[in-house]
Amino acid sequence: MKCVKCGSETRVIETRQHAAAVIRRRRACTNAACGHRVTTEETVLPAASLLRQKPIGEVALALAEKRRQVQLDARRANEDRALLRDLGIDEDYGDDDDGR
Ligand SMILES: [Zn+2]
Repeated sequence: MKCVKCGSETRVIETRQHAAAVIRRRRACTNAACGHRVTTEETVLPAASLLRQKPIGEVALALAEKRRQVQLDARRANEDRALLRDLGIDEDYGDDDDGR
């Protein structure tokens, strides 16, 4: 890996197992005039098929949006149920979808 400050080579000065599937490495720039140090993290990426479809940032954004949508739907369903309760309507009779 190249130094993020000067572009010279870096060397690993320390490697630590951070979690079961995460390794962190302390790296130092080999350019004596620079000497910049950083910590890098090595981890398992999502399945290769996901990476081929979209850049990882887009995958993360899509997952976050999906999660937000599911939470929103759940909140709306709860609000609907609360409204039905407030109106004294038994929701089992108000739902046509399940045929009951
Ligand atoms: Zn450097």
